[in-house]
Amino acid sequence: MTEWIMGNELLIRLGCFAGIFGLMAIWEVIAARRELTTSKGRRWVGNLGLVGLDTLIVRLLFPTAALGTALIVADLGWGVLNVVSVPYWAAVAISVAALDLAIYLQHVMFHALPALWRLHMVHHADVDLDVTSGSRFHPIEILISMLYKLAVIAVLGPPVVGVLIFEVVLNALAMFNHANARIPLPLDRVLRWIIVTPDMHRVHHSVEKREHNTNFGFNLSCWDRVLGTYKDQPAKGHEGMTIGLKSFRERTWQSLPRLLAMPFFEPTETSIRPGGEESPGE
Ligand SMILES: [Zn+2]
Ligand SMILES: [Zn+2]
Repeated sequence: MTEWIMGNELLIRLGCFAGIFGLMAIWEVIAARRELTTSKGRRWVGNLGLVGLDTLIVRLLFPTAALGTALIVADLGWGVLNVVSVPYWAAVAISVAALDLAIYLQHVMFHALPALWRLHMVHHADVDLDVTSGSRFHPIEILISMLYKLAVIAVLGPPVVGVLIFEVVLNALAMFNHANARIPLPLDRVLRWIIVTPDMHRVHHSVEKREHNTNFGFNLSCWDRVLGTYKDQPAKGHEGMTIGLKSFRERTWQSLPRLLAMPFFEPTETSIRPGGEESPGE
C-alpha cells in the first residue's frame, strides 16, 4: 500500500486537483454566491501563476516532501505515533486531525506576526474569492509552511496514508471553501458543524479586520469553535461584504510580478498587533 502510494503520489494529487477544480469551476458558473467585482482573466493568470510557481519550487526543494518525511520518521522510530501503540485506523484518524490543528495554529501565527502577515497578505489581497483563491499563496509562505509541516510530522510520526489523506483533503477543501459556490443555507448549517464551508471561510476574507481575524480553519470547523475564533456570518451579509485588503485594491496588484513583490510593500493596515491589539482608529 505504502509503496503504491509513493509510486503514484503525483498522479493521485494531480488527479484530485484537476477533478475538484473542474467541479468547483462548473458549480461557480451554475450557482454563483456573489457577483464578481473584477474579470476572472486577470486574477486567474496571477493566481494560477502562483500555483505553478509554488508547485515547481516545492518539487525542486523538497522532492520527497511530506510523505517521504513520514517514511523516514517511521524508519527512525521517531514521533509519538511510532512510539505509542495505537490501532492503525486510529493512528490515521489522529494524524489527519492533528495535522489540521497544526495548520490552524500556523494560520493564526501568519496573522499575528507582522513579518508572516506580509507574506499572508498575498492570499488576502484577492478582491474576489473563487476556486483559484484557495491555492494563492506567496512562495515564501509555502516554503515556511512546508518546513513547519515537516517538523510537525517528525514530532507526530503519522502513517504515510494519514499524511496523504490530509494533503489531498486539504487541497480539495481549500478549493471548495474558497469557491464562489452557492450552497442551500440548511445544507451549509449542517456541513459547517463538521467542515469549513465557503460561507464560513468567506468571513475570513472580509476587508474588516474584526472579521478577517476569525474562521482560521481550513478543513475541520471545530478548531475555531473550540478556540473562540468562530464567526457565523459577515455583518454586511455575503452579498454586501467587501473582500480583500484596504491597502491593495487596485487592479495592478493582481498581476504575478506584483503579487510576488507585495510582501515588500508597506501595508497601511496590520492584521493582529503583537498582544492581540488592533491598530488604533480601525
Ligand atoms: Zn488568513
Ligand atoms: Zn482563504
